[in-house]
Amino acid sequence: MNYDLKSMTTGELEALFVSLGHQKFLGKTVFSFIHAHGASGIDRLSTLSKSLRAELCEQGFFISRLVTVEVFKDPDGTNKYLFELADGNRIETVELTDENERRTLCISTQVGCRMGCAFCATGRLHFTRNLTAGEIAGQVLEVEKASGEKIGNVVYMGMGEPFDNYDETLKSVRILNDPAGRNIGARHITISTSGIIPGIEKLASEDLQVRLAISLHSARDEARQKIMGVGRKYPLEALIDAVRDYQAKTRRRVTFEYVMIKGINDASLDARAIVRLIRGIKANINLIEYNPHEGCDFAPSDRKTIKVFGGILTAEGFEVAIRYKRGQQIKAACGQLGTGWLKTN
Ligand code: SF4
Repeated sequence: MNYDLKSMTTGELEALFVSLGHQKFLGKTVFSFIHAHGASGIDRLSTLSKSLRAELCEQGFFISRLVTVEVFKDPDGTNKYLFELADGNRIETVELTDENERRTLCISTQVGCRMGCAFCATGRLHFTRNLTAGEIAGQVLEVEKASGEKIGNVVYMGMGEPFDNYDETLKSVRILNDPAGRNIGARHITISTSGIIPGIEKLASEDLQVRLAISLHSARDEARQKIMGVGRKYPLEALIDAVRDYQAKTRRRVTFEYVMIKGINDASLDARAIVRLIRGIKANINLIEYNPHEGCDFAPSDRKTIKVFGGILTAEGFEVAIRYKRGQQIKAACGQLGTGWLKTN
């Protein structure tokens, strides 16, 4: 059992208080204190009697807290938070603000990552452990507390593969979505996967309207498997079949993320391969300018090449957005998280 009250849903907290011989409504009250009002310790749950707070502490319950080690600020407005967990492990979280002042938080689900994508710094780090739901949702709470501003959108695209930590990831979504807590609309939450098919299948059956993003990065198996090891386990045809099934079941648009790497996946034939592969799927495609980092020889595609590539996709009716590098000076861009402080393999 996880004794962290921050990792529990309203339902779990209600069940806990009933099991301790107290009234059920206390579960919702405590959930609200933690997730809507930012209570950071059991002693702060002033709605509970002193004796009940003491009882919770005696039984080993606690409220986890992320400690902000440093906030890196990029001149382009991107902020990167380096958090320390209770066991000394560290994670990074990136806050992006768009031209309309909408704030999006890119959150982590694991310390390190097992997927080992060749273009990603996190993928070259040791996998250490999964984050708990409280540590995942806690990133939103801590950033809001530090900045005094509300986060409008959450993307599960930081360190780690969310579907490699499926249960805690989905629980954190339920926690963030709960009207008694942060109440972030499910449509404002995106889970991004490198292509773990069982995760896509499970998500299709959840009673949550979250958005799904697939890190595609190549529509040709041979090329994809060179840069994404996960492609060997879940080849493209099976992956796209799962996406089609997901869309048939949920009727939701899907986003494909595509990092543009010079000479690897940016030729016209790569764009045409995407068209053939995902034809018929209602999709947005994000073309992301690759972010170079130490220890990796890849280079970003030329901007002209990215535009031509995007033009081929747009002509076929796909919605295409080009994302140029952001947070480059503070190593906060896609694929750069963890570069500065974790031991490499
Ligand atoms: S891109 Fe995502 S899935 Fe791939 S190694 Fe990096 S963090 Fe893991």
